[in-house]
Amino acid sequence: MRKMTGLYIFLLLIVCCLYVCTAEKFIHPDFSITETMMKQKIEELSHPLIKEKILAQPGEFLESMRVLFALPGELFLLVDKNHPLPAAYVPGDLVPLKDYPVKITYTSMMVRQVIMNDLLAMISAAKEEGFELTIASAFRSYDTQKNLFNYWAKTVGIEQAKRESARPGYSQHQLGTTVDFHPIDTAFKDTKAGKWLLSYAREYGFSLSYPDGYEEVTGYIYEPWHYRYIGKEATHVIDNYFLGVQQFFLEFCHHHTGFFREHLKKDTGS
Ligand SMILES: [Zn+2]
Repeated sequence: MRKMTGLYIFLLLIVCCLYVCTAEKFIHPDFSITETMMKQKIEELSHPLIKEKILAQPGEFLESMRVLFALPGELFLLVDKNHPLPAAYVPGDLVPLKDYPVKITYTSMMVRQVIMNDLLAMISAAKEEGFELTIASAFRSYDTQKNLFNYWAKTVGIEQAKRESARPGYSQHQLGTTVDFHPIDTAFKDTKAGKWLLSYAREYGFSLSYPDGYEEVTGYIYEPWHYRYIGKEATHVIDNYFLGVQQFFLEFCHHHTGFFREHLKKDTGS
């Protein structure tokens, strides 16, 4: 009998050893996600290059997610032609730009307080380069956007208006984190400011929403003047994994970050 018990213990030990040796480890200490789970999840994405980039450094990617989850979630809210904001959505921390050392084309412009530090730092950096950034449009309420869209529809026809302007509720300007630089014109891309922003806005957390050649992805023609603030952590994530395209990142946030949040261990403080 004692011999049998010894044998059972021995077998149990072998099973335990086998389990420990073969059990998959979590790829990041703060997420209960194994390599297999990660591969399965990333397989759901449609863009092969994005999948490749994430799976090339899954641990680093999860670390980026952990950092982003600690930031205000509405910075990454998907607002596009298919995902509107409620008509009554107005951010709570709007501040008038006229109270700051910022060049603006009309006095009633407002943005969210949360973008101010980085916006001012970006404007100062541009000044040091020898040019001034002027803001031509900022927060737009649902009603303002409604009037603007109707104006464009009357001026250029409804189909063209849809390519160039958002229907009310569908504009990133309603978020209060989006700004248009002056002049609102395709020629902005060839100005010093336009070229500089294209390279450096990301370092201040501002991301070009509608890049050249992506009308099929974003729904909008190239708008070299239109930047949305998402924070520098997110602009790095976009550059590292989402091919520099904000829309790909925001769609990912909308459809897939629930999985990562669910597997974030509770005691990480995030
Ligand atoms: Zn705009």
